[in-house]
Amino acid sequence: MKITDHLSKAKSTLFSIEILPPLKGQSIQVLFDHLDPLMEFNPPFVDVTYHREEYVYKDRGHGLLEKRSIKKRPGTVGICSAIKNKYNVETVPHIICGGFTKEETENALIDLNFLDIHNVLLIRGDAIKSESAFKPEELGHHYAIELVDQVVNMNNGKYLDEELIKATPTDFCIGVAGYPEKHFEAPNLMFDLHYLKRKVELGAQYVVTQMFFDNQKYFDYVNKCRELGIDIPIIPGLKPITIKRQNTILPRIFHIDLPEALSDEIEKCKDNDQVKEVGVEWAIQQSKELIEFGVPCLHFYSMGRAEPVHKIASALF
Ligand code: FAD
Repeated sequence: MKITDHLSKAKSTLFSIEILPPLKGQSIQVLFDHLDPLMEFNPPFVDVTYHREEYVYKDRGHGLLEKRSIKKRPGTVGICSAIKNKYNVETVPHIICGGFTKEETENALIDLNFLDIHNVLLIRGDAIKSESAFKPEELGHHYAIELVDQVVNMNNGKYLDEELIKATPTDFCIGVAGYPEKHFEAPNLMFDLHYLKRKVELGAQYVVTQMFFDNQKYFDYVNKCRELGIDIPIIPGLKPITIKRQNTILPRIFHIDLPEALSDEIEKCKDNDQVKEVGVEWAIQQSKELIEFGVPCLHFYSMGRAEPVHKIASALF
């Protein structure tokens, strides 16, 4: 079932989660152990993030360094299929521009289609850790909007090879990313929303937001989107704070603010158990207000930590 169908048919706010693939070498059981307790809350879909390659340098002796490209968390397509089979739940693979040619993206989408996975979240991806700015592959996409265009074309039976006739149309439901506090490269929010609107005009069907800790930012964002005619569902993305360090690393990594009241509380905590309590309580209060606002779904970034999300869901659903 399409994510948009789940959203439109829901009688109350839905609960969904986003997970990371296991590290290379780990068993899929690690992931199942993470998901098992959260399945109690009947998420209609589970998102699986994509992690692009990193460069590492191996010392080969005699002053020689070998540059190697490694993927620490490979396997999104297989993981999505495994989760779908085990839990009978929709899975949403994240498809990124970075590191892929258009042809490779097409082949991954064909695999997903064969595996009966018909929801995708299309994003650009960030720069490789050792690079200062995002660089597309030579035959790849520069922006997420180009990825949306490719999937919409496939949904219309138009594949990259123009000589393919009567190609089977895919039927992907397309999600894209949104940033209540603006994408960090955009000079201003309106610039960012201009491109979001173009994605929607092209065929994006719902938005999932970057995490935020101040609901007012989400409310303002939704209102701005509606004023601009962006009328698709905007699912808020939430993350419970679990460790003290996140007070400073989340703003740096995700280009978001933490409200003073929250960051002060975190600073006062004596250990990470206290931080977890503060984080869970903040997320519960945020969620309650969002439910009251009428959000279609609360999407939790579980980031390998099921317990805090379980506590929040227990208080809400
Ligand atoms: P784009 O829409 O391409 O936008 C990037 C920037 O360019 C923005 O500033 C935008 O305003 C601008 N822009 C857009 N189109 C154009 C254009 N045509 N011309 C000029 N400027 C343009 N990253 C991962 O690597 N893996 C994941 O699994 C992942 N999941 C995510 C899930 C969510 C819900 C969110 C919010 C983010 C996720 N990210 C993930 C991070 C994402 O890849 C980065 O934030 C990335 O920098 C931007 O992705 P985007 O799709 O918003 O990019």
